[in-house]
Amino acid sequence: MTERARDIPDTGVAEEEVVGLASELIRIDTTNTGDPETVVGERAAAEYVAAKLAEVGYETTYVESGAPGRGNVVARLAGSDPGRGALLVHGHLDVVPADASEWSVHPFSGAVQDGYVWGRGAVDMKDMVAMSLALARRLKRDGITPKRDIIFAFLADEEAGGHYGAQWLVENRPDLFEGATEAISEVGGFSITVKDGVRAYLIETAEKGIAWMTLRVRGRAGHGSMIHEDNAVTKLTEAVARLGRHRFPLVLTDSVREFLAGISELTGIQFEEDDLEGSVAKLGNIARMIGATLRDTANPTMLNAGYKSNVIPSLAEATVDCRILPGRQEAFERELDEILGPDVEREWVGLPPLETTFDGPLVDHMTASIIAEDPAAKTLPYMLSGGTDAKSFAQLGIRCFGFAPLQLPADLDFSALFHGVDERVPVDALKFGTRVLDRFLRNC
Ligand SMILES: [Zn+2]
Repeated sequence: MTERARDIPDTGVAEEEVVGLASELIRIDTTNTGDPETVVGERAAAEYVAAKLAEVGYETTYVESGAPGRGNVVARLAGSDPGRGALLVHGHLDVVPADASEWSVHPFSGAVQDGYVWGRGAVDMKDMVAMSLALARRLKRDGITPKRDIIFAFLADEEAGGHYGAQWLVENRPDLFEGATEAISEVGGFSITVKDGVRAYLIETAEKGIAWMTLRVRGRAGHGSMIHEDNAVTKLTEAVARLGRHRFPLVLTDSVREFLAGISELTGIQFEEDDLEGSVAKLGNIARMIGATLRDTANPTMLNAGYKSNVIPSLAEATVDCRILPGRQEAFERELDEILGPDVEREWVGLPPLETTFDGPLVDHMTASIIAEDPAAKTLPYMLSGGTDAKSFAQLGIRCFGFAPLQLPADLDFSALFHGVDERVPVDALKFGTRVLDRFLRNC
């Protein structure tokens, strides 16, 4: 008799429960437009999670982070070795908006059909929230004591930067995360099929930094009918066009290098340094994701100037969405100086990049938990071009990973489902992830 069969009840109940939990969570509309005035559902979702935890015996902490309705729930399960750092398992409850007229099913229906759970949040990230919740309940209900404390955190406002969620809690309630040394959450642990029956599972070890930059040019106001050499709109748009067309240099960070080496080994694709983008393009659906981690980007997204056709304004502004690779901030700013010139003022908001190494016992446990369910699997690190709540938790010195395991069909364009129309997650993938996480949480 194996140790598992002798001591530990089967994870079956959690596997059955996870589908219903994902569906019910999707039915709670937690749309986050970024405008705090329009917030809906985060409190209801947090209360739903808190009730599910309380039902099996957890003491939960409910916190509204800085504004009414921005509900967060945190609960801790004590481990057998108090000398070890706690593991934080965090997930956000909010979702981006969805336009029902574009969808095949209603985005807040949580429909379970054709082998999928459908709806806004199905992959970002009520899937992982449901798996975490199912397993928090399983561990408590079955009296299983993990090796280390596990802190389960269900959070508001990730989709608008976490100012009313993770970031607020990190600044105002760090006590809730006391002792946490490592964390897992979204956008990692999913599979890509590299050849028949062989899957690589991409574990997020790095994130590009986010920097939303406002550019401002001041000029002389004047009449639109006159010769005018100091036009703020002209100067600003020239600078914005130069920046928008600029290509930042290719930089191979450690995470990306290790990812490409692993893919080469599995597929035989060679990534030539002189045609990196050409070779990454051969990766199929994930080329878009990986391609965005090869260089810094600066995409102009908003323009604002003027108030009347015949008045030259004295001020013109633009917003640029910049995503900066780990270690590149200084070099990035030096390039900006050259491209923008001295007349353009700039102002930033954002969060720095993250990068951790793909090694150590926690990574070994992730790999072992996946291989136990998918013996031919290989795990690889990768960098996310976007940002998550990990950026906030890293400020507490927590080492953060994206590990929300899903075994996906080979032909599913997974990255397109994030914030996409007809967002959905395979039922089998949810069950697979629940089994992987069960083993991982018990042993890590
Ligand atoms: Zn997300």
